[in-house]
Amino acid sequence: MRHLTLASVLMVTTGLAAPVLADGHLKIVDEPLTLTVQMNHARYPVYDENWPVERVARELTGISLKDATVGANTRNSENDGKTEALNLMLATGDIPDIVGSSRLKDFVNQFGPEGAFLPLNDLIDEHAPNLKAYFAERPEIEAAISAADGNMYYIPYLPDGKYGRAYWIRTDWLDALGLDVPQTVDEYEAALRAFKTQDPNGNGLADEVPYFARQWPELIRLVTLWDGRSSGSDTYHDFYVDDGKLKHPYAGEGYREGIKNLARWYKEGLIDAEIFTRGSSSRDYLLSENLGGSTHDWFASTSGYNRLSADIDGFEFKAMAPPASISGKRVEEHRRIPIKPDGWAIGHTNEHPVETIKYFDFWFTEEGRRLANFGVEGQQYNMVDGKAIFTEEFLNNSKPVNNQLYEVGSQLQARGYFQDYNYEIQWSNEFALEGIALYDEGDYLIDQFLGVAFNADEQKVYDKNWPSIRDFMLERQQGWILGNGDVEADWDGYMATLDNMGLNDVLDVMQSAYDRQYGG
Ligand code: CA
Repeated sequence: MRHLTLASVLMVTTGLAAPVLADGHLKIVDEPLTLTVQMNHARYPVYDENWPVERVARELTGISLKDATVGANTRNSENDGKTEALNLMLATGDIPDIVGSSRLKDFVNQFGPEGAFLPLNDLIDEHAPNLKAYFAERPEIEAAISAADGNMYYIPYLPDGKYGRAYWIRTDWLDALGLDVPQTVDEYEAALRAFKTQDPNGNGLADEVPYFARQWPELIRLVTLWDGRSSGSDTYHDFYVDDGKLKHPYAGEGYREGIKNLARWYKEGLIDAEIFTRGSSSRDYLLSENLGGSTHDWFASTSGYNRLSADIDGFEFKAMAPPASISGKRVEEHRRIPIKPDGWAIGHTNEHPVETIKYFDFWFTEEGRRLANFGVEGQQYNMVDGKAIFTEEFLNNSKPVNNQLYEVGSQLQARGYFQDYNYEIQWSNEFALEGIALYDEGDYLIDQFLGVAFNADEQKVYDKNWPSIRDFMLERQQGWILGNGDVEADWDGYMATLDNMGLNDVLDVMQSAYDRQYGG
């Protein structure tokens, strides 16, 4: 109540809306302090100090960040596993006070122990009570982000919630064709074929695109229907753990079987012919044009497309349980990972490490966490019964909620913060909630690989071999799908090549790092 009263006074006296009131208890410095920041993420390649969230953080803490991003145009793709911008920054020899990026973890765990970034353990212990409390409660998170020398070098973006992606299908098309929701891989194939051949959109053309995806690795995800794996974590193409042993999905029998069948699906027109090139607008375009039949995508944002029922008669796009694989397993390979490799770190030349860790800690306070998750009070949300509730105006904007939040500097994944799933529940419609309940009931999620931190010797083996192995795997994968080569005929040669390229050496160092880190 005190806040409301003071805020009202402020508004009267200054004539300005005061979205958040700085009563001073979050102030870190008496004199304004500016820290430089490098920030890279595919969604916002450059840090913007004018983001409304940043203005409020500045007002509350006294600390402002100034963009010093090197190589802003070379974005860190979320999918390519590379960190060009970070390497470029390191090459200049000029590391900003704060470095925030997607895929930061391996980078800081390699270069932190070499001196490029500050170890955070003592700083947290002495100056960051909120971070300290978080790690005390979640010791497995601390273990998973620590480098081989036992130190933490970055504060991660920590997602909240369990469910991420699901299978989605045009249930109105199924109805129109007299089909039930597919329960097995064979029924799924039959439904996709019916979409292709029986004109469910009713325009007399075979223009339907049965399976599509915004991210092409979501095509590879379908190898799980043949008992293969496409990734061990929510990062595409990642290693996975099978009964304590590190493996790579693209060297498995189920993968071979899956790719063989997906190549057949592609040839038969069940897969978007432009799956590798259409990109992030696929979902929006193919659903809006009444062309797309099925995909594998996020609950909240995908469920929102049911708004198209206003324009497309009968439009209904619902989550379905993962179809049973050829051996009868129902697996949802994707889930929210509790820790992302994204976040931020402190450069070694930073002259204000204490203030910086306090600034990192600010984002784990109640107010900072709210700011990171919901945006600015009075703009994106209001406080209702002690909870941040998005305004109707904000939720009803035609842009997706998460995109709107990125634009104000909220939900920034190159910032270390703890997500609040309540932010997403508020824009999850009945279709999303129904789908989540379906997945919850079926218990389809599987364990994830949380990554390893190499020592210097392991890192050398990995760096020497892995990038070229990965490129080769992806090149063959796409080739097989597109009909360039035959996976069955090529398989033995493919596996021999992987061995020659050092895959087993890479798996050995992954295993030794894994055993050290997780006590295997
Ligand atoms: Ca048609």
